[in-house]
Amino acid sequence: MEFTRAESFLHDGLLQSFELTKYILKTNGYPREPTPLKELREVTARHPGKLMSTAPHSGQLIGMLLKLINAKKTIEIGVYTGYSLLLTALSIPYDAMIIAIDPNKETYEIGLPIIQKAGVEHKINFIESQALPVLDILLQNLSTKYPGFIFYLHFCFFFFFYGFFKFNQLNSSSFVSFLQKDNEGSFDFAFVDADKENYLNYHERLLKLVKVGGLIIFDNTLWGGTVAQPEEAVSEDRKESRRSIIEFNNSVSIDQRIEIALAPSGDGLTICRRIR
Ligand code: SAM
Ligand code: CA
Repeated sequence: MEFTRAESFLHDGLLQSFELTKYILKTNGYPREPTPLKELREVTARHPGKLMSTAPHSGQLIGMLLKLINAKKTIEIGVYTGYSLLLTALSIPYDAMIIAIDPNKETYEIGLPIIQKAGVEHKINFIESQALPVLDILLQNLSTKYPGFIFYLHFCFFFFFYGFFKFNQLNSSSFVSFLQKDNEGSFDFAFVDADKENYLNYHERLLKLVKVGGLIIFDNTLWGGTVAQPEEAVSEDRKESRRSIIEFNNSVSIDQRIEIALAPSGDGLTICRRIR
């Protein structure tokens, strides 16, 4: 299932070349793509939002980084049908885990049967919510502040939480167990691919949650190449996110708490490594 020239702008990134992007996909992306990811891409291709999926060649880079740092505890913000989520689940060890956050559970459920068939669902804690409140809760360190409250939650998480964030019921008690821990500096990896207007807000919170030496990757940081174009040349519907991405790019470029590398893969991946 290949993308067309008209659809290519999201995958071309800095290359801005349909032929070169196709070449990379043909020689690297498609042949080495694991079967479950191929299946997920094919199922997603029937969905109107199909272009939101992470590009296979970006996925290869993310998967390799996850293995290089031996990531075991990860966060995914922006799931859609789950291409990058499944990729993460396939790249981390059997006993590793992912907190995956998206307010849209319907699209997650499109990919879920493939995730289940791949035998990696047990690694995923899907939370149907906006990401910011979940990150704030993870940062609350409730166990130190309210140990009795956590004990109580174990018994009544369903009644208390179900209406607040709608959890994947299978894994909600495991999320509650997260609340018992001091999560600051405990995550190895985070992938952010959601509302661009909140990238800087995510960055601040994730920098606290991810350990020194851990990675935070932000997708779409070239925003279809528009970051390098004058605003007048950009279509109205892309302007606001473009502004947010430019602000994000400027901010991380001078952030002394991280090392960065902007990989011109897909629509641009900014890889941040926490160093302090
Ligand atoms: N990473 C996904 C993949 O590889 O298929 C693509 C994610 S898609 C570009 C963006 C997703 O972000 C959508 O599913 C959308 O529902 C979700 N989203 C939008 N606003 C969000 C928010 N405030 N918090 C969490 N997710 C959000
Ligand atoms: Ca994306």
